[in-house]
Amino acid sequence: MRTSEVVVVGGGVIGASVAFFLAREGIEVTLLERDALAAGASGAAAGMLTPTNDAADAGPFFHWAQRSLEGFESLAAELLERSGVDCEFVRSGTLRLAFDDDDVTRLQARADTFADARLEWFDAAAVRVVEPYAAEHAVGGSYAPDEAHVRSPLLARAYAAAARRFGARIETGVEATGLRVGSGRVTGVETRDGAWSTPRVVLCSGAWSATGGVWPEGLARLPVAPLRGQILSVEAPTPAPATTLLGAGGYVVPKRDGSLVVGATEEEVGFDARVTGEGLRQLLEMGARIVPAIGDCTFRSAWAGLRPTPSDGLPIIGPVDEVEGFAVATGHHRNGVLLSPATGELITGWVSGKATPSEARAFLPSRFTS
Ligand SMILES: Cc1cc2nc3c(=O)[nH]c(=O)nc-3n(C[C@H](O)[C@H](O)[C@H](O)COP(=O)(O)OP(=O)(O)OC[C@H]3O[C@@H](n4cnc5c(N)ncnc54)[C@H](O)[C@@H]3O)c2cc1C
Repeated sequence: MRTSEVVVVGGGVIGASVAFFLAREGIEVTLLERDALAAGASGAAAGMLTPTNDAADAGPFFHWAQRSLEGFESLAAELLERSGVDCEFVRSGTLRLAFDDDDVTRLQARADTFADARLEWFDAAAVRVVEPYAAEHAVGGSYAPDEAHVRSPLLARAYAAAARRFGARIETGVEATGLRVGSGRVTGVETRDGAWSTPRVVLCSGAWSATGGVWPEGLARLPVAPLRGQILSVEAPTPAPATTLLGAGGYVVPKRDGSLVVGATEEEVGFDARVTGEGLRQLLEMGARIVPAIGDCTFRSAWAGLRPTPSDGLPIIGPVDEVEGFAVATGHHRNGVLLSPATGELITGWVSGKATPSEARAFLPSRFTS
């Protein structure tokens, strides 16, 4: 039987990051992905690195998201050097547009809450100076100069290729079907391609974490559900916008390949990752409210992915106390790309025998399993 010190299940940005950080520490790791790398949500994401989007307050989520953002530029450079894959990091800054008084009040309050993000308030005229393509009817905007974006599928490939350089095995087309447990601890993983003997398994299977056979028998399943996001891209006008713009329930991200990515829907439709006519209609309407010029841009393509969405909005990262040697890293909802480095580091800390840092205890799976 094949053996590995750690087996990671799932080859999205989370599993690939975990494999990279483990391998960089000199830990023997094997990643099993049933399809191709970034076949799930990670292949669909807009790749925004925006800690202030979903944080409810300046608590643990914001702290870890901000920490990930701060290290991203040097991480992208390291991954490029080690793997030859450029994840196309761009520090575009993010401008959140206000269209009415309620938006102004909400965005200004968030600027006070997230002082570390150095948010600045711009009036309507200043908004148009920062980004001339921003909708003329915006009455102001909150600008986050440090926020950035990457190409998510490239990031997953860069993590995996760099992990390989450190000796990790990356096995695609291999589906994990079950966990082997003996005397309360992990002994291996079953796959359609034979079993692996291992003392540690990290489940990083995204929206499928709560459904697959890898979850230990008899343990309450994690409350992680798929949330469909449809997203599209158009050719950017010339000259291209430079700033990521948010508002009207959506966003427009100018990518290095000359496209504008317009996202995203949020739909509870189970494991249905289709692009629909209604989804496209909503996206084009939303995009044109933020950047009216989009109405005249050439359409490129549209796609969809299933976010792993946890019931309480926080990622689920760390050891599962009930089964020694078993850990999860899932539930990253709309922020898995951003949180991927922090997640890889947290899991590497666990494998290395370190206690979970107090600021990351809010993410432990014990909040659901015990
Ligand atoms: C439209 C959209 C836009 C988004 N935009 C952003 C954004 O701008 N910024 C951001 O940070 N996040 C964004 N996200 C969220 C982000 O995509 C997710 O949080 C992240 O991709 C989750 O990564 P993951 O590796 O956990 O899951 P996934 O990428 O879904 O990977 C899970 C992998 O596990 C594999 N798998 C499942 N079961 C098994 C098994 N039994 N054996 C082997 N392999 C298995 C699957 O094939 C899949 O490849 C967006 C998501 C969507 C859908």
